[in-house]
Amino acid sequence: MIEIKNMSAYYGRVQSLHSVSLSLDSGRIYAVLGANGAGKTTLLRSILGLVQATGTVRLLGEDISSLPAFQRSQRGIAIVPEGRRLFSDFTVEENLRIGTINRNDFSQIETDIEELCEIFPILKKRFHQPSRNLSGGEGQMLALSRALLSNPKLLLLDEPSVGLMPIAVSSIFKMVEQICRKKKLTVLLVEQNAKKALQISDYAAILEQGTLTFEGDVALLQSDERLKAAYLGGH
Ligand code: ATP
Repeated sequence: MIEIKNMSAYYGRVQSLHSVSLSLDSGRIYAVLGANGAGKTTLLRSILGLVQATGTVRLLGEDISSLPAFQRSQRGIAIVPEGRRLFSDFTVEENLRIGTINRNDFSQIETDIEELCEIFPILKKRFHQPSRNLSGGEGQMLALSRALLSNPKLLLLDEPSVGLMPIAVSSIFKMVEQICRKKKLTVLLVEQNAKKALQISDYAAILEQGTLTFEGDVALLQSDERLKAAYLGGH
């Protein structure tokens, strides 16, 4: 579904990703784990075309490596960035509609908005209120819904648990899993909260100083004592 080959990324002269190759199957959730500064966000930004990068990205067989970010997003890559990046003065509805900007199936858009409001009733309740009134967890639901409204094939989630209470983290992760399974979305989930991320993931990838040092199914990671100790606190 998506093939990343030999991807290296640079901030000026500093190289932050070193020849990362990763192949993602349709409808699967991939957790990307790693210490602070390991290159997780850079990987997401490189896939989207927001960082100077070399290597190739193929989406459904099409080489999109030379496309600018807006065309990659039109091809079906959406991101929920770290910190959510909502338009705080815009209403919940306006934030949601930003996600639909590349769509013209207008009646389906309304159905999709209604469906998301059923999944996340708080969005309906606050529909006409500015998004700054939302709590962290509610804001995360809005950011996720906005990304889903672009009808992505690949959803990039950057640290969705940051700043949330454990109970909000659990409910967001549960929703991510349900929605992704239902819509057969491919998800790349960058998370510091490795245990939570692995609970909903099929596969895991580990980045260490910009290099991919592990890729495989979650059970394989959990059976590796060294990786378990490093990323899951040894439990
Ligand atoms: P965290 O978990 O702390 O968010 P991360 O794994 O997402 O970390 P990145 O944000 O991808 O890591 O950063 C990878 C490396 O690139 C780090 O050494 C970081 O300092 C560097 N870096 C990130 N953004 C920039 C930038 N805009 N300019 C220069 N260097 C950057």
